Amino acid sequence: MEPLLVATVTLITLTALPYLGFLGLYAWIRPTGSPAAKAPQEPSVSVVLPTYNEASIVAGKLEGIDAWDYPAENLEIVVVDSSEDATPDIVREYFEDRDSPTLELIEEEERRGLAPALNDAYAAASNDVVVKTDCDSEVAPDALREAVANLADDDVAAVTGRNAEVLGGSDVETGYRDIQARVQTLESHLDSTLIFHGPFSAFETDAIVPIDPDSLADDTELALRIRRNGGRALFDPAIRYKEAAHSAFRKRRTQKDRRGLGLIRLLIQHRDMVGAYGRYGRVVLPFNWWFMIVSPWLLATTLVLGTVAAVLTLGLTGLVLPLAVLAFVLAGTRDALGPFQPLYALFDTQISLFRASIELVRGDYDNTWEVDTDLREAYE
Ligand code: GDP
Ligand code: MN
Repeated sequence: MEPLLVATVTLITLTALPYLGFLGLYAWIRPTGSPAAKAPQEPSVSVVLPTYNEASIVAGKLEGIDAWDYPAENLEIVVVDSSEDATPDIVREYFEDRDSPTLELIEEEERRGLAPALNDAYAAASNDVVVKTDCDSEVAPDALREAVANLADDDVAAVTGRNAEVLGGSDVETGYRDIQARVQTLESHLDSTLIFHGPFSAFETDAIVPIDPDSLADDTELALRIRRNGGRALFDPAIRYKEAAHSAFRKRRTQKDRRGLGLIRLLIQHRDMVGAYGRYGRVVLPFNWWFMIVSPWLLATTLVLGTVAAVLTLGLTGLVLPLAVLAFVLAGTRDALGPFQPLYALFDTQISLFRASIELVRGDYDNTWEVDTDLREAYE
């Protein structure tokens, strides 16, 4: 049992080391805001809105875009729709007696998944900048101004924003988003960030390239490809949006596992970028490899090994370890951990990434997922 105990402690230390390194880097750099040389500008913008059966919320979404602090004459809305419900009719009706913004409605014959739909929408976008926004999200009125100010920096070709308020009141998601915002701010100051968020991602139209039609991490993939081609891809916390999320363990898994799987697959597909492409390939990608691919397995192994070691040393009393983890999860999903809630949020993400890597190996995924109607209620 001695060796088992040593192995457990070694594993915990090993798992934690890169995180401590990143924490040290954060303390050293103390990054705040966007690293871009921001400057006000008003380029023409195409707002890409993908929709699949969003009849209950799409009108509200369009009203939200109308409330953006931006000249409507400079805006075009590109809706790419694959619905079986009344979504396209509602969209057409909304624009019937409006001169601006203008509407470009792409109606798909059948649902092929989000990535191919986005590829078509980006090809149809005719303005200087493209903003992609999910139907189930609320974007702050000044977000677009903040975004184009980032793109005024010649080095910057893509920018995403922060989930400033989690609708539905999930503390699990809030805790995770706060940590993620810090990580992404640091990544941006080092070079570029990896993850781009569905509710708001902006790209220079010239920089857009097609993404893998099977992609389950569409916004992140586009940003990564743009970084590959030399443009910086940044996270700016001044770009704010709201998105709904669950706290309940099971409800969280569906969406988080799929998103995790998309990210893991993307990292593996673009593994050649590790070690190249400046600090993006030398620091940002390796850190994300650790967080998304390596550390979930190390944690799982540690848990099993630790339990075996504890039971061998302490007998049945050793079962307190797995029971403690279970209690941690139960309290965490109930948003009842107080100051430790963010720690649970990280653990929750590791669970999804672990499950996602298994689903990926088993080939157990599909790019036409069931849109979460529970979450849509927050926008109705
Ligand atoms: P999640 O936030 O990752 O759970 O993804 P959602 O289910 O909320 O989808 C994100 C956005 O893409 C929403 O605006 C959906 O309506 C839209 N969407 C999802 N699947 C498709 C699709 O197959 N085709 C099109 N055109 N849009 C889709
Ligand atoms: Mn969504």
